[in-house]
Amino acid sequence: MAQRPDVIIIGAGLAGLSAARTLQAHGVPSLLFEASATIGGRVATDVFEGFQIDRGFQVLLDSYPEARRTLDLAALDLHAFAPGAVLHRGGGRFGRVGDPLRAPLDGFRSLASGAFSFGDALRVLGLQVASRRAINTTMSSPAAAPFTTLEALRARGFSARAIEAFFRPFFGGVFLDRDLHAARPWFEWLFGMFSTGRATLPARGMQAIPAQLAAALPSGHLRRESPVRRLLECAVELESGEVIEAGTIIVATDGAAAGRLLPDLAAPTWSGCITLSYAAPEAPITTPHLALKAPDDPGPVNHVCVPSVVASSYAPRGRHLVSATLIGNRDEDDAALDQAVRTQLRDWFGAAAVGRWQLLRVSHVPFSLPRTLLGESAAAGAVRRATGVYACGDHLETPSINGAMRSGRRAAEAVLADLTARR
Ligand SMILES: Cc1cc2nc3c(=O)[nH]c(=O)nc-3n(C[C@H](O)[C@H](O)[C@H](O)COP(=O)(O)OP(=O)(O)OC[C@H]3O[C@@H](n4cnc5c(N)ncnc54)[C@H](O)[C@@H]3O)c2cc1C
Repeated sequence: MAQRPDVIIIGAGLAGLSAARTLQAHGVPSLLFEASATIGGRVATDVFEGFQIDRGFQVLLDSYPEARRTLDLAALDLHAFAPGAVLHRGGGRFGRVGDPLRAPLDGFRSLASGAFSFGDALRVLGLQVASRRAINTTMSSPAAAPFTTLEALRARGFSARAIEAFFRPFFGGVFLDRDLHAARPWFEWLFGMFSTGRATLPARGMQAIPAQLAAALPSGHLRRESPVRRLLECAVELESGEVIEAGTIIVATDGAAAGRLLPDLAAPTWSGCITLSYAAPEAPITTPHLALKAPDDPGPVNHVCVPSVVASSYAPRGRHLVSATLIGNRDEDDAALDQAVRTQLRDWFGAAAVGRWQLLRVSHVPFSLPRTLLGESAAAGAVRRATGVYACGDHLETPSINGAMRSGRRAAEAVLADLTARR
C-alpha cells in the first residue's frame, strides 16, 4: 500500500468493508482504519469451548437485496429458521404462528395458537400483500413516516391479542424495542423481507459475513487497533498521533463515533439488548423456531432460540447452544441476570432441563441499533458531508445488515462519481 492512499475508510464494520469492496472492484484502492482488534463491528462471533456465540443474537435475511447483490450466500452455507415463531402460552405450552402464504397449514396453526382470530389471519394476508409491494421500493429513510409500527398494526385492525402475543415480542425483538416505535415503512419492508426470505445463520457464525467481505480486499489494506482521533484537511489523525493524508475520507463508524468525527452529524439514540448463551445437553426447542414470551409473562426474556438446532456447527457434537435475549439495558450483574432468566425459563422448559444448563456468556450490547423513531431525521442519503469527506453506516440508512452494506456501497459510488467528475 502506498504511503498516501487514494481513499481512507474509518471503521471496518459492514459499511466500511462494503465501501472498500466497491472501491476495490472499480480499481480504487483504499486503506481501512479499524479501532478494535477485529473486523465486522457489531457483527461478531466468539468461539468458546466449541460453541459459536454471536455477540448478541442476530440473523441474516437471505432476501436482503444488498446481501443478494454483494455476498456469496452459497459460500456462507446458510441455515434457516422456520418462518413465524412459537409462542409460549404459559406452563410450558407452546402454540405456533406461521406463514400462510408459504405453508397453508401454517394459517390453521396460527389460528390454533390462540394468538390470531380468523380476522387477524386475513389481516396477515393483507399485510403480506402490502409488504410485498413495499419491498419493491427502495428502503433508505424510514424516518419520515406518518405512523409507528404499533399505530400501523392498530390501523389495520389487528386485535390486541395478535399484537401482544405475536407482533410485540417478534418485532420488538427485531427492533429491540417492545414499544414498536419504528416507522411503518421500515416495518412493512422488513415484514416483506421475512415473508419472501428466510432468517438464517451462516454455518461459521455471523462473523462469516464480514470475513467474506474482507477476504475480497488485498492484504495490507486494513490496519486494526488503529482508532482515528479526528479528521484534518485531507488527512486523518490516529489516536497514536500519526497523521495519514488522503484526498478522500469515508467515515464508516457507528453513529456515535461518526457524531464525534463529523460535528454536523447528529449522533443517534440507541436500542440495546443482552443475550445469555447456555450450553445444554438437550435442545429445549427441537424445531428451528424462535420462541416468544407470553404477554403476561413478567420475566425479562423476550425471545429464545437454539442456534445449534438451526445450524449444528453452533455447538459441539452432543450439546446444544441456547440463546435467550433481553431487550434493553439493565443494571443487574451477570449472576443476577442468569438467575432471573433461569427463573423465567423454568416455566417454559421445566426446572430439570434448565437446571442442567451451563452459562457460557452474557453479551451486553447497549449500542445495538440506532433508533429510527418517528420524526427523527436519519439524514438518509447524505453520504457527501464536505469536499472529499463522505459518511456511511446503518445510522444513515436502516438499522440492519442490509442498511449498513447498502450505505457503504452508496458512499463508495459517490466517491467514484466525484473522482470521475474531477478527472
Ligand atoms: C445485538 C444485535 C442484533 C442485531 N440483529 C440484527 C439482525 O438480526 N438483522 C440485521 O439485519 N441487523 C441486525 N443488527 C444490526 C446490524 O448488525 C448493524 O446494523 C450493522 O452491523 C452495522 O454496521 P456498521 O458498519 O454500520 O456499523 P458497526 O458495525 O458499528 O461498524 C463500525 C466500525 O467502526 C469502528 N470504529 C468506531 N470508531 C472508530 C474510530 N474512531 N476509528 C476507527 N474505527 C472506528 C468500530 O470499531 C466498528 O468496527 C443487530 C445488531 C446488534 C448489535
